[in-house]
Order: sequence, then C-alpha cells, then structure tokens
Amino acid sequence: MNKKILVTGGSGMLGKAMQKVLPNAVYLSSKDADLTNSAATDAIFNKHKPDLVLHLAGRVGGIKANMNNLGKFYYDNIQINTNVLESSRKYNVEKVLSMLSTCVYPDVISYPLRERTIHNGPPHHSNYAYAYAKRMVDVQSKAYRQQYGCNFITAIPNNMFGPNDNFDLEDSHVIPAIIRKIYEAKKFGKEVVLWGDGTPLREFTYSHDMAKIILFVLENYNDPEPINIGNTREYSIKQIASMVCSIYNYDGKIVWDSKGPPGQFRKPSSNEKLLQLGWDDNNFMSMHYSLEQVCDWFDKNYSMARGVTI
Ligand code: NDP
Repeated sequence: MNKKILVTGGSGMLGKAMQKVLPNAVYLSSKDADLTNSAATDAIFNKHKPDLVLHLAGRVGGIKANMNNLGKFYYDNIQINTNVLESSRKYNVEKVLSMLSTCVYPDVISYPLRERTIHNGPPHHSNYAYAYAKRMVDVQSKAYRQQYGCNFITAIPNNMFGPNDNFDLEDSHVIPAIIRKIYEAKKFGKEVVLWGDGTPLREFTYSHDMAKIILFVLENYNDPEPINIGNTREYSIKQIASMVCSIYNYDGKIVWDSKGPPGQFRKPSSNEKLLQLGWDDNNFMSMHYSLEQVCDWFDKNYSMARGVTI
C-alpha cells in the first residue's frame, strides 16, 4: 500500500501485532500524543499528515476494570475518538478505520450479533460507559460521511488475545488472566481461582490474525455500516483454561469462584459480511497454536509483561 498510514494505539496489544503485518506505518503511543487532548491530537496529525488512519487507541479493560472505572472509560474513549475523527477530517485523511467492540451490542438481542442492530437497546450494564462511547464512533463516522463526505469506516472486533496483552489481574481480559494464574500456579505454587463456572462461551481472535483482517478491511471495505471482524468459533472459558493447563503442563486444582462479576453467557457474532467481502475463514491459526505462542511469550517476558510486578 503506497500510502502514509498513521496507527493510533500503536503500542498496545493490537498495535504491536499490526506492526508485524504493516511495518512501514507510523505507530503512536500516548507518549507521542495524549489523544484525549484535541490540541495534541491536531499537532500529531499536522506533523505526520497521514493519508490513512488506523484508529486502535482506547482505554481498554476487562469486566472488573470497566465496572470500577465507568466514568474514566467513558471520558477517555469519547475524547480520544472525537479528537481522532475530528483531526482526520481537518487534515483531509482519505480513510479512517476505527475499532468498536462487541460490547457495543445490546444486551438483550437475538444471535448471532449483526452489525445493523448495534443501537437497538442498551448494552450490558457492566461496561455500558465504554460501550456507549464506542457506539458514538459509529455515529460520528456516519455523520462525517454524510456532511463532509469522509470515508470513515468502523469494525467490530470480538475478544482478542496475544503477546503484549495486559496481564494485570484487576484489569485484564479473560485469556491473559487465565494464562497468568496458571503460569504462576505452575511456577510459584499459587492457587488458581477463576471467575464464574467456566461455562460462558466466547469468540476469541489471536491478535496476529486480527491485524491481518484489519489490513484486509482497510483495503476492501468502504461502507458506512460497521463490519464484524474476528474468528467466530466459540470456546468455553473452561476449554481455554484446559488448553493453557496442558501448554504449561499444570495438573493442579482450579477453583471456580461464582462470586466473580457475571458476564453475558454468550455473544456469537455474524461474520457474513466479512466472508462476503472475500475473507477466507481458513486463514485463522488454531486456538491451541495461538495460545502456545502467547504462553511462550508470557514465559519469556514475565517480569516485563504489562500488569505483572514481581
Ligand atoms: P491496549 O490496551 O493494548 O492498547 C491501547 C492503546 O491505546 C495503547 O497504544 C495506548 O497507548 C493507547 N492509548 C490509551 N489511552 C491513550 C491516550 N489518552 N492517548 C493516546 N493513546 C492512548 O488495547 P488493545 O490493543 O487490546 O485494543 C485495541 C483496540 O481494539 C481498542 O480500540 C479497543 O477498544 C478495541 N478492542 C479490543 C478488544 C480486546 O479484546 N483487547 C476487544 C474489542 C475491541 P500507551 O501504550 O502509551 O498507553
């Protein structure tokens, strides 16, 4: 792609995976510009004058972090997204691809999740602030398309995991939490306590696979409606835990703590649009292989991993 591409959130888990599939783009972290600040956002756009923007930056966390920081998650995400889209408009960016999340979908809904339904009811109460802020990316992108003719598109990734994830037990998503707990049980003899009963089903996409989809969508998708992206195969939390146990060779006990915060039972999404666009569902790496990569990364980077303090 012979274009200057700016990637916000370039230091995050997805941003780092993106660097592998798109090495020549400009990758930003919050140290380059605090995107909650509109002047700082303008300044970084003025500096780089990108043709295309991959907007991956956001305040991100698991259920617990979301529930404990509703205001912060709302404010940071609404500011970051508003500023990035407005600066993209001002600096005549040809195309922006922004990340939503399956959290934007209404809590009470028929499955599979289809893109046209994202505003059809309130999202799950546990992360409504993050979800509404993300929904506004869809609203702002469509409004700018209508008024200014901006080619701003949005994608809805399901749960991601990969190297460089956040492994903070108070603040992480489910897969990094499982990996860390089982790793520490094997290495330091700690007890493994996992939230819930392990039966909820989720779709998970390896960050490297997601980066490849994002590039594909950036090149091929131009519609105002969001597009669901990711691997739609469902796994129970118990299945993931069992794979991680086998990778780390851990045969000890797992305590399932049903007092933990409840999530939705399942959130299968439709990947019909992505397949119609020409994405081949056979492109995904297997769950076991992907988990092996992350477990291996975590082992090698334990003391430096985000959220781990020894
Ligand atoms: P990470 O938490 O790993 O990375 C977040 C990125 O955003 C980092 O580069 C961070 O910079 C940057 N950032 C945060 N606050 C600011 C700020 N104020 N100014 C500038 N940059 C900022 O997130 P992921 O890579 O996991 O997620 C990428 C995108 O995908 C996000 O938009 C997220 O909402 C979405 N998503 C993620 C899912 C997942 O499972 N992880 C699921 C669905 C959607 P720094 O490193 O400097 O802090």
